[in-house]
Amino acid sequence: MTDGSPLPRPQIDVTSWSDAGSRDALDLVASSVAEMVGFEIAIISVVRGEQMFAVSVEGSNDATTAMLGLTTPVAMVLPELDRADDWGRFRFVPHERLALDVRTHGWVPDLTPIDAPDAWHPLDLLIAPLYDQADAMIGLLSIDVPMSQRRPGPTQRDLLQRYAVQAERALRMAVDRDELAERIRLAEAARRVVRFATSQDDLESVLDDCRHPLLEGFRADFLAIRTYPTEGLPEAGSPPSDLPPDVKETIRASSRSAWTAQRVIIVGEQLTPDPEIGDAAYEASEAARVAVGLGTTMLVPLGAGHESLGHVILGRKDPNQHWSPDEQAGALDIARDIGQAVVNSRNLIRGQELVTELRRLATYKSQVLSTVSHELKNPLSAVMGYVEMLDADPSIIGDARRSIDALDRAARRMGRVVDDLLLLSEVEDPEGAKPTEPMDAVPVLLDALELTRVAAARRDLTLEVSAPEGEVMVCCDVTDLDRVLTNLVSNAVKYSPKGSTISLSLVQHLGEVELAVADQGIGISAADQERLFTEFFRSTNPQAVAQPGTGLGLTICRRIVERHGGRIEVESELGKGSTFRVFLPSPP
Ligand code: ADP
Repeated sequence: MTDGSPLPRPQIDVTSWSDAGSRDALDLVASSVAEMVGFEIAIISVVRGEQMFAVSVEGSNDATTAMLGLTTPVAMVLPELDRADDWGRFRFVPHERLALDVRTHGWVPDLTPIDAPDAWHPLDLLIAPLYDQADAMIGLLSIDVPMSQRRPGPTQRDLLQRYAVQAERALRMAVDRDELAERIRLAEAARRVVRFATSQDDLESVLDDCRHPLLEGFRADFLAIRTYPTEGLPEAGSPPSDLPPDVKETIRASSRSAWTAQRVIIVGEQLTPDPEIGDAAYEASEAARVAVGLGTTMLVPLGAGHESLGHVILGRKDPNQHWSPDEQAGALDIARDIGQAVVNSRNLIRGQELVTELRRLATYKSQVLSTVSHELKNPLSAVMGYVEMLDADPSIIGDARRSIDALDRAARRMGRVVDDLLLLSEVEDPEGAKPTEPMDAVPVLLDALELTRVAAARRDLTLEVSAPEGEVMVCCDVTDLDRVLTNLVSNAVKYSPKGSTISLSLVQHLGEVELAVADQGIGISAADQERLFTEFFRSTNPQAVAQPGTGLGLTICRRIVERHGGRIEVESELGKGSTFRVFLPSPP
């Protein structure tokens, strides 16, 4: 028979605790103690945080239904132990000394005491606290309703001692296994968060991928995950919350201090407010808990380094399923991993924004370049046409002819600058990039060599070429590669003394191809090499300045090579010569 009390009896589902084998072992101890010592009821309870609950009940069906999973605050039981008579491992509290409300927190047998000085009273309490190796209380063995209807005598007490030892051993194992299972669950959740969430780029996907591992790992019924807005990035996460703004703000503020203190904030129907949290934080967390209809919640701050980034709220419907210390520590660990993933994804977003902005600027720059050069080209053509007309007039002589010659030189020079500017605007335009395709570099190299022959012969230069037999495939575009090589070879010719040698070579390396143009010319100083590939740079060397040039050729070469995934390098010594090397990726 139940005690018939109208008060709600907080009971939890014990099958979620430890494993079936360990619970069977406890059932066996409970039934043995009852049978062998002669009691109707034996109950083994386990301590979980501030509560304890009955995991094993031997007795009538009514007693089992009423007691299994019944939770009792540990704080209510401890004073009884102090009041009790010391029977070795057991403690006996005669009914007249009992303060515990057994109607809510226990079982009152339907029993009329016999008329004897040692008669058992329905409210007598006989319990043995059970401890772990570190002497912390992990549970209780309680027995009730002796068959003899009398309080146990010396022989029975002896026997009880032995069963208390057995119950303690079985409970220690079950607790260990429960803790182990919990750690495995949490480690698995952490592993999944690290594996999936941290491999995502997009913030919402990072947070989404945390949901399952967290819900499963923490056996939670509810999960809210949220990052706070920062430096132009909006808040992210789900589910949307309709809490009043001031409550939301208080939760965020509490989460920030919780991150600094590296702790979680737990609230629950059955829990007394944690004095360290502060009233406002407690009330806001409680409001959030009640709003989503949960029994208990754990607010876990998300962060990285000193920065608090957001929070996770884990919730359980059952107010008696408390968050264990391992779960609290595990949640903070996982929050650090999520925080790192949030930081990575934010950096990526910012990086992408920066790239977009730079691309926009590059497009703008090339548009300006292109417009200016086109605008210059037309009047320049007119100038050149008139110069040509005047040049053809034989009546113009003396100073006037010299002026026309100077005009002609200046117009040609301007023409070269305009052409190079147009080319630069073309290769700098991110929108106009030519597709990178596998192509044979050998014919392009030989073409560049052919084109140079006349200019080289004029300066008595020897041209050498070395390339492997057959095709050498590179990833580039034919016109682009041609431009680069023509530029490098014509520079080599331009800046070489008469009678010297220019060597072109093509070498296949692992994953890339090297095209080199080497000369024995004037060379480039170390200081000049630093700025060689920047727009309009011309060497400070008077020998170099004496040659016509715009200072744009190498910039164009570098842009072209880089946009095909390659690089350009120079090795040079003043007065000895220079070698320009272009590396381009080979097709996979
Ligand atoms: P340009 O030759 O039209 O001036 P470039 O961009 O091709 O423009 O070259 C920039 C500068 O680098 C040149 O002005 C020259 O001073 C130096 N330079 C380029 N190639 C060589 C070379 N092979 N030997 C010596 N100096 C060179």
